[in-house]
Amino acid sequence: MNILVTGAAGYIGSICSEVLLSRGHQVIALDNLQEGHRAAVPPAATFCQTDLAIRSQIEAVFSSHKFDAVMHFAGEALVAKSVREPSTFYAANVGCGVNLLDAMVRHGVNKFIFSSTAATYGEPEVVPIPEDHRKAPINPYGKSKLTFEQILGDYRAYTGLKYVTLRYFNAAGASVERGEAHREETHLIPRVLDTALGAIAQLDIFGFDYPTPDGSCVRDYIHVIDIADSHLRALEEIERVPGEAFNVGNSRGFSNLEVVKTAERITGRKIPHKLSPRRPGDPAVLVASNEKLKRALGWEAKHSSLEEILQSAWDWRRKFPKGYPE
Ligand code: UDP
Repeated sequence: MNILVTGAAGYIGSICSEVLLSRGHQVIALDNLQEGHRAAVPPAATFCQTDLAIRSQIEAVFSSHKFDAVMHFAGEALVAKSVREPSTFYAANVGCGVNLLDAMVRHGVNKFIFSSTAATYGEPEVVPIPEDHRKAPINPYGKSKLTFEQILGDYRAYTGLKYVTLRYFNAAGASVERGEAHREETHLIPRVLDTALGAIAQLDIFGFDYPTPDGSCVRDYIHVIDIADSHLRALEEIERVPGEAFNVGNSRGFSNLEVVKTAERITGRKIPHKLSPRRPGDPAVLVASNEKLKRALGWEAKHSSLEEILQSAWDWRRKFPKGYPE
């Protein structure tokens, strides 16, 4: 298939592009390179530097290529930034997404896989969280993604759009060639590894008074290659499950302190850390139920252990200590 991948220079979009290409698909890779890295885009993809905020740029891409489906990874994804800058999140995660959907409608492209998030649930009432759990996001990031999920329902009703929503829990890990390299790194695992390498002197663990066994937040880490696989499964089965949402997680939670301890084992290095105040917008526990994804799409996590996730991230970090060239 010819697949348009937005956010293809970003962490998850670039690795999903790599996996799509390895399974024989054509990838038209779109990114505005504000956060993404040109060098992360697989060479076999056709790259278009395009800003989804500018409708004429999207139109140019749709006029010059034919697509069978769109995978929409582009967007803003940092919880703390969303608390400071909600407007950026609504513009990127809602406004740009609508621009993209309108181009799809104009050009008769009607298969869409949407990258959503566990942040749509807010503080869970039940763990592991099932997809039909109450949605009460506690930060603008989660609210912007939930709003777009609802907008997709409207497009389905009025334009016949076939879409699947994938709600990622905590994406982590790397392929051999591609990994997590944000210009401003806020995510736990890359920061843990930077501390192991000495680039960060002492890691802050945000929050030590959460209602969890060791007081630090609990997250469900899912290997980025398993996320890529969920996209392929969703696309293959989209005729059977249009309009459905699926959690993409491992159904197992690890506390921030457990991640540090496991990373010390994997890297063989000490990771100095201190307990710091909570980070605004963080729920205490986010762990997925992945039963629906397994049952309906036949997906299985193939790289599920925290050790394997950390090992792949560590291998990538050591192979590319400076991340991607600019
Ligand atoms: N975290 C931390 N120190 C850091 C970065 C993150 O304690 O330097 C915590 C963060 O507060 C959250 C967990 O690690 O409890 C996962 O955060 P991350 O930003 O990786 O992902 P999120 O869950 O926000 O998507």
